[in-house]
Amino acid sequence: MATTSNKAGKSAKKAAVPARKASSPKFVYYFGAGKAEGRADDKNLLGGKGANLAEMCRIGLPVPAGFTISTECCVEYFTLGGKYPKSLEAEVKAALLKTEATMGRQFGDPENPLLVSCRSGARKSMPGMMETVLNVGLCSATIPGLIKKTKNARFVYDAYRRLIMMYSDVVMEKAEGIEPAEGKGIRKQLDDMLHQVKVKKGYKSDTDLSEGDLKELAVKFKARVKELLGKEFPDDPMQQLWGGVGAVFKSWNGKRAISYRRIEGIPDEWGTAVNVQAMVFGNMGDSSATGVAFSRNPATGDHHFYGEWLVNAQGEDVVAGIRTPSPLNEATKNEQNKQFVSLEKGMPVVYKELDGYQKKLEKHYKDMQDIEFTIQEGRLWMLQCRVGKRTGVAALNMAMDMLKEKLIDAKTAVMRVAPAQLDELLHPILDPAAEKAGKVIAKGLPAGPGGAVGQIVFTAADAVEWAKTGKKVLLVREETNPEDVEGMRAAKGILTARGGMTSHAALVARGWGKCCIVGCGSLHIDVHAKTMTAGGSIYKEGDTLSLNGSKGHVYEGGLNTVDATENPRFQEYMKLVDKFRTMGVRTNADTPEDARVARAFGAEGIGLFRTEHMFYGKGADEPLAKLRKMILSKSLEERKAALGELFPYVKRDVKATMEAMDGLPVTFRLLDPPLHEFVPQSPDKQAELASELGISVEDIRKRGEALHEMNPMMGHRGVRLGVTYPEVSEMQFRAILEAAAELIKAGKKAIPEIMVPVTCCVKELDDQKKIFDKVSAEVAAAFGKKVPCLYGTMIEIPRASLTADQMAQTAEFFSFGTNDLTQMTFGFSRDDIGGFMGDYIDKKILAADPFQTIDQRGVGEMIKVGIERGRKTRPNLKIGICGEHGGEPESVKFCFKVKMNYVSCSPYRVPIARLGAALAAIAAI
Ligand code: PEP
Ligand code: MG
Repeated sequence: MATTSNKAGKSAKKAAVPARKASSPKFVYYFGAGKAEGRADDKNLLGGKGANLAEMCRIGLPVPAGFTISTECCVEYFTLGGKYPKSLEAEVKAALLKTEATMGRQFGDPENPLLVSCRSGARKSMPGMMETVLNVGLCSATIPGLIKKTKNARFVYDAYRRLIMMYSDVVMEKAEGIEPAEGKGIRKQLDDMLHQVKVKKGYKSDTDLSEGDLKELAVKFKARVKELLGKEFPDDPMQQLWGGVGAVFKSWNGKRAISYRRIEGIPDEWGTAVNVQAMVFGNMGDSSATGVAFSRNPATGDHHFYGEWLVNAQGEDVVAGIRTPSPLNEATKNEQNKQFVSLEKGMPVVYKELDGYQKKLEKHYKDMQDIEFTIQEGRLWMLQCRVGKRTGVAALNMAMDMLKEKLIDAKTAVMRVAPAQLDELLHPILDPAAEKAGKVIAKGLPAGPGGAVGQIVFTAADAVEWAKTGKKVLLVREETNPEDVEGMRAAKGILTARGGMTSHAALVARGWGKCCIVGCGSLHIDVHAKTMTAGGSIYKEGDTLSLNGSKGHVYEGGLNTVDATENPRFQEYMKLVDKFRTMGVRTNADTPEDARVARAFGAEGIGLFRTEHMFYGKGADEPLAKLRKMILSKSLEERKAALGELFPYVKRDVKATMEAMDGLPVTFRLLDPPLHEFVPQSPDKQAELASELGISVEDIRKRGEALHEMNPMMGHRGVRLGVTYPEVSEMQFRAILEAAAELIKAGKKAIPEIMVPVTCCVKELDDQKKIFDKVSAEVAAAFGKKVPCLYGTMIEIPRASLTADQMAQTAEFFSFGTNDLTQMTFGFSRDDIGGFMGDYIDKKILAADPFQTIDQRGVGEMIKVGIERGRKTRPNLKIGICGEHGGEPESVKFCFKVKMNYVSCSPYRVPIARLGAALAAIAAI
């Protein structure tokens, strides 16, 4: 054994990772036989897989020995332009020696050869996005020895043909940057050759192939590799090993991995570790098997040991969805797999051992574990454990169950549901009534939750293209393929004919909370013709289907969807969330209906009532006609008369909303948009309005022209309207204060707040405040009591932020309008970013769209300055946000950090904002 490794092994007892000598950085970490140089905390260095293999070794689980080449080595490899650091070779050799000693076999030994796997493992799990090579070390020198040792020539040739398939694909093609046309890759070609043998000989399954078939195939495979890739298949174990390590490193920069990182926000700089581990075989006959399991059901959260296994198979067979796997135990059998033998029945002793390990692991990690295992001739080996991905429903259910079981505390339970998962919980499901009446055309496995309705497409590229044009699509594929990741993302739902619950597509879809059905065996898909047959009918590209991903049912046509909100578990969880939350959450709502929905979601008030919304949509005709009359008035008298007609409508809506909020504060904003938005543009609409108002079309056209602005976003809008037409503000002040006074008089509660939009200097606020004070006094006189009402302002222009000390002299509260503040700080038109934002993100000029998540560096500074200066003048100044960012978790965290009193967002985002606020508070504890 190499001395360096020994030393490292000893020091590992004290520290998580052995100290590094400045001169030669340590890149390789051994694990095996109950000892490991790393541990679970070393994910950044060893990747998730490597760190957990080390941890499993430490806690005494049977893990095949091996070593992890660190992520730092991967970074170094890229820094050196695709070369290994000098010290790596010696370190690998030393670790290999230890592995050999533990396993009692030697790499490349003709008598008793050790085979290894090379697997990727990043800090954060990226299921199926990088490469793996198995059976490394099989060659003409070691094949006979292994046959002698195992007395199983069929198995050895099967392992060899797998090595050729994987290695030629991963190392000789992909890692070399060769990009064959669709369906022309080496893997596909070798697959086709194998398929042809099966067809010719009338075999049903890969396991029917005989020793002779496999031996012959290996020869033919190697010839095809040479022919296609122009190189001999390497026959030297060490050459194979280094090829495998390099290919795994390179797969960090493979297309799929890059796409996945972009979607998941994983930094490019992290790199992957490589785990080189002694092979154990699940394909050594009927006492061997392989499987994937979860300590609880990842789709529903049910507390059942749950998983799939395949007898006489290697792990790739389960995840690639080549064979439909069997259930792990009796309790979790479903419609699709009830006829198969469970591991519990088929291998009861091993099942019991495995069940013990999954319990131990869950207790150790205090979270649901996703486990990979292999049984070699009756002996169980643990190959991987990690925190399992789960749907939003499962995350919620597990968090609440584990809290009850006292496995985790309340704080941890809150943190177990990500804001995006909460969003997923609020997503639609197929309307159960529509499902009852609907026609089920196929059934598969319920791999990803909720309902999805869309037009079917048959390739990932089509899914992306169609989605770009705004179409809702369902991606239909024969089998699950991680290369489809972009198409899966773009699709509303995913449907596959093959694969199990643990196939890559299922894992990925579940992680995203995307509706997904896999293993729908009755589907016949013809990718070339772009058709699928199900339930006796043929469906073409573009036909609409509906999926219930929670049941695994596929329906013909587009079914109605409904929201899945009335879950008592959800209410319970949100109560827990609020225990930790300190910042308020309000909603942006302008109708009593929205107000009610938002209250049901836990809104503590309305942070933005956009007055102008009463002039759009349902029931808007009458008030809009009055507003238009006001806009088209030629004199002050005419305008006042029109405002008088408009008044009752405004008062009615304002009152109904305050009533619905029942004593929670409601922030009304004065009319904000430029008036020309309300004047019809088309000649026939103008003619209609002219006859309605009894004026000429010419008058309307002229007024429209007069109101026309080159840059309306910075034109006559917001407070500027109130400055030029004080009577417009006066009408609104009166409507709000009288509505509140009437409610209070009737014994109800009403807490109005009024804010002035698009302000940039305190004098604007002073100007409007005079009107407000006058109206307030008049209403007080009329009702015998003053209505308490705060007077505040939006802060959405940089100058307002910079002069916040002055603004706060008059404003009693601030509400940051980060939509406009982002627009004006960046100088990006909020309505026109579509033309360039994609390029800004792709070229990494901006990390994210600043209209979605607050740009903390720029707009965030503007907010900080505004808060600091505002509170200098008025220490108790109430401050909130009402731009779209108020419902975006990262932005909510920022709002907490800068000490806002509340965030305000659209009703359906209220729970997400509540969770975001709680998580921020927990992080600050
Ligand atoms: C804002 O600008 O952030 C805001 C809330 O106002 P609006 O979106 O109505 O302009
Ligand atoms: Mg605005």
